[in-house]
Amino acid sequence: MSETVPFWEAVDGGTLAVQRCADCGHQQLYARDACARCHRRHLDWAPAAGKGVVYSYTVVRRAPSKQFADEVPYVLGLVELEEGPRILVRIEGCEPDDVRVGLPVEVAGPGDAAGRRLPPFKPTFAPSQT
Ligand SMILES: [Zn+2]
Repeated sequence: MSETVPFWEAVDGGTLAVQRCADCGHQQLYARDACARCHRRHLDWAPAAGKGVVYSYTVVRRAPSKQFADEVPYVLGLVELEEGPRILVRIEGCEPDDVRVGLPVEVAGPGDAAGRRLPPFKPTFAPSQT
């Protein structure tokens, strides 16, 4: 879908972008053809900082298909970006048991637009040893 092209271009560049309404300033993901708040169609794209906090998460311990057999266990996290939208991504760079709701996270590496794979996130700072 053409509305998503700028998003995937940002992913290929190792960053994230959010769709922004020129009329009311609302920022949203996924891409739509109208603002989810004011329903106007004056939308553009803004670079996202690539930082946020874990809003919710789950640890995947059983591979959903053979493709993921070598990757379990891994964490799927719903990350609330600083810009407001939430995005479902892998949380890497720590043990699955170290992930918590509210954990500050940031982009950890490039995604893969061709494979429609979002960039992974990692904790912004090392989890405390408690
Ligand atoms: Zn709007």
